[in-house]
Amino acid sequence: MIEIRYPDVLLDSLENGHMIIDEHFVVNYWNRWLAINTQINKEDIVGKNLQEFYPDINYKVLYRKIKTALTIGTPTFYDTNSSKKFISINRNKVTTSSLKLMQQQVTISPYIASENRVMISIYDISELFEAKLLIKKEMNTVNKLNQKLEADREIIDKNIMIMKTSVNGIIKDVSSFFCSSFDIQRDEIIGKNISIFKSDDVSELIYKELWETIKNKKPWNGELKYKGLRAQEKWLQSRIMPIFDTHGEIHEFSAVYHDITNEKLLAELYITDSLTKLYNRAHFDETINMIVKHQRKVDSDFILVLVDIDHFKSINDTYGHQVGDEALVSVAKTLKSSLRDNDLVARWGGEEFVIMLKNITIDEAEIIVEKIRVNIEKSIIKKDIKVTASFGLTKYIAGEDSKEIFKRADDALYEAKNSGRNRVVLK
Ligand code: GH3
Ligand code: MG
Ligand code: MG
Repeated sequence: MIEIRYPDVLLDSLENGHMIIDEHFVVNYWNRWLAINTQINKEDIVGKNLQEFYPDINYKVLYRKIKTALTIGTPTFYDTNSSKKFISINRNKVTTSSLKLMQQQVTISPYIASENRVMISIYDISELFEAKLLIKKEMNTVNKLNQKLEADREIIDKNIMIMKTSVNGIIKDVSSFFCSSFDIQRDEIIGKNISIFKSDDVSELIYKELWETIKNKKPWNGELKYKGLRAQEKWLQSRIMPIFDTHGEIHEFSAVYHDITNEKLLAELYITDSLTKLYNRAHFDETINMIVKHQRKVDSDFILVLVDIDHFKSINDTYGHQVGDEALVSVAKTLKSSLRDNDLVARWGGEEFVIMLKNITIDEAEIIVEKIRVNIEKSIIKKDIKVTASFGLTKYIAGEDSKEIFKRADDALYEAKNSGRNRVVLK
């Protein structure tokens, strides 16, 4: 066993407490730091038993620790928790109000092993202890914030439709609510292209505008229809935002949706004729009045066509009202399929229809309407039942109101009827 001795001057100069005691707790040495901090002078304590000064120390434990240190020849720790100090030392002797006990770390080292003497060192770890307390407190706050964030995240996940895609439109993540709304599993769509939801009911122009906007680093707001992979398709009020990396480049896209399917259905119902599924008169009126009111050049270049089925009364009288209805549906289908997407066709009432053809000359319009007339004439409603229709068409003249153009179209239709029906008349 190596005998370790420290010169007294060295121990006195240290900023920690050092005492040397024997296995019977008799104090052999008491350094300056201890004298200052305990206010017990070296002369008063050396040669005396530590128990006289500090009866509260657990001497059983201390004895065991001394023996261990002496036997294994290396320092051992004497555990002091925050509530129980090895020896109580006030940290601040100046203000009693902030009187605090010093946090200590105590080690017991073999000193002169042959004489069963040990050195007890007391280190002031108050600052470390307080730092640890502060960290613990801050960790608690961080943990609480994390818990709150986690709870918020869960609420969002369960109640809001969210999707994240890569820059190329590959689905990276979706919220639970998105999955449940579309009756799909997250795994089914992660890694797939967003185009799996693309519906034919949304024009390519909308998608083009959407991608141009978000690739230009701006958010896009609008209505999209998403195909249902299993459940029903949905109209979604959508906000698609670019998310940036630290260099300001687009890292991914994040989309938040709100299901507006019901609102859309209601709105559609409001403007749709229930029998033919064409637009109704109210919608046509609203559209034409808007155009006439604003007189914008792009919109106000149009041709109005009035369509009236010939001798329709006799269809009802001969085959019954039910067949009459079927004839109306059939004519509506023929009208719709003979027109471009841009054109507007509505049921005007009874067996009359109205069409708005956009950006077209009157001659081109006449050719189109003549084709429609032939298509109606040729199509079979049921068995050998057929119908014909008469057409009056006219071009909108800038500045006039809707009554004026309707009057002209009506005159043309009247002429078509009077001159033998199943024909197109221009005014
Ligand atoms: P014209 O060639 O002069 O137009 O003769 P028309 O018989 O078609 O003329 P009219 O306007 O006298 O008759 C229209 C008929 O259309 C009267 C009405 O019973 C029928 N009708 C109107 N709405 C409906 C409907 O929703 N369903 C059916 N089945 N018939 C309808
Ligand atoms: Mg009529
Ligand atoms: Mg008629």
